[in-house]
Amino acid sequence: MSTTMIDEITSLMQEMIRNRCVNPPGGEIKSIRTIDRYLSSLGVETEIFESAPDRGNILAVIKGSGERPSLMLGPGHVDVVPVENEDEWTVPPFEGVIQDGCIWGRGSMDMLYIVASQTVVFAHLHSEGFKPKGDLKLLVVADEEVGGELGANWMVRNHPEKVKVDFLVTEAGGDPIGPNQMSYIYGEKGTAWTRMRFKGEERHGSAPFRSKNAVVTMAKAIQKIREYQPPRDTSITKPFLKAMGLGGITRALLNQPRLLGFMLNQIAKSGKGNAGFIHSLSQMTWSPNVCQGGAKTNTIPGTAHLDIDVRILPGQDEEYVRAHFRKALGPLADEVEIDRLPSDEGGIFTAGSISSANSPLVEVMDSIVKELRGPEFTLVPLVSPGATDCRFFRKAWDTQAYGFAIHDGTIDLATLLGMFHGTDERVPIGTLELTAKGYMELAKRFLS
Ligand SMILES: [Zn+2]
Repeated sequence: MSTTMIDEITSLMQEMIRNRCVNPPGGEIKSIRTIDRYLSSLGVETEIFESAPDRGNILAVIKGSGERPSLMLGPGHVDVVPVENEDEWTVPPFEGVIQDGCIWGRGSMDMLYIVASQTVVFAHLHSEGFKPKGDLKLLVVADEEVGGELGANWMVRNHPEKVKVDFLVTEAGGDPIGPNQMSYIYGEKGTAWTRMRFKGEERHGSAPFRSKNAVVTMAKAIQKIREYQPPRDTSITKPFLKAMGLGGITRALLNQPRLLGFMLNQIAKSGKGNAGFIHSLSQMTWSPNVCQGGAKTNTIPGTAHLDIDVRILPGQDEEYVRAHFRKALGPLADEVEIDRLPSDEGGIFTAGSISSANSPLVEVMDSIVKELRGPEFTLVPLVSPGATDCRFFRKAWDTQAYGFAIHDGTIDLATLLGMFHGTDERVPIGTLELTAKGYMELAKRFLS
């Protein structure tokens, strides 16, 4: 990786941090133009798609000969989440400060360093006259942080022939999840936030004999939800446990859906391993988090509602969710209305999606990580609990979509996780360098 490339990545990142594309409202066209100016200065032809005033996406393509599958760098998103309290930051969050070997700023980790690396790698491949055997595409988009309707999904719906792709690499991945272990992301869980409504008969609180109290019904429902065990599925935890290097017997037991509950309790007791993590990746989870009902101490409540954070595995849908809620509630189900949480309260249904944990692209990723970080390193397949733009591509074309980056290991996992949408977000220059090298090698090896 030449110093010129690192300088170019750094200055692109700084400019995008200073552009402040906080979503909402976004205003991403500023950073899209930043990317465009850079690419054009190196002779790359681009296409900009304005999806709304001040919003937009940019695409560049190096045509392949068609002998290999196509690969996309991206979709990378240039929008960022707001900063709640600027005073808590060590440096101002929208200045692109370089300090202690890191570039600091909102969006630096999520995901401007990846956008900048992918853009610079693409431009240099273009300048070198790289002749790929499959199409190489670079896509940078708006609006990921608020659902992608004007960004990735807009492109997939309005320009499917331009953004269709067999494989892609985008945000997340590279986290140091154990000694010599680094994650890559091959799928994501979905969300199906649910509201349960309960009915009672409103009357005076001084005469409760045989009253129908909506809050009491809600309490019974909460109890039933807590006691219910949704079906377990170990297909996602299997490759993860294998890569984590757990002992053969432990793994064999953990891989049996029927023994998983027992095993999780054992793990939780011994304090070894992360039972909560394995649990959430092996089943739909329910967490009843908000309950509302009753207005006055002297009135028996006629209505109540309960909001439940529901996270589903790839392949599970709202029908599945409701069927299991009804099963959990038993006869009580007749007294409960089960709906999606209203959309203005965040109740958008998002399906989970998944790519192959062991595709040819993953093999190339693995060999690159071993070369750049050391032969002792293993890549650990992870399914992310949150949504990314990958889901639109998996749904449209079954694209094999991965979160891939290479961290330099100077920031520990807990600090890293706290940075996403958090305070003091920053990226070590070393991570930026390794990640750019990784993309360069990935494109060359996969498409040659
Ligand atoms: Zn992101």
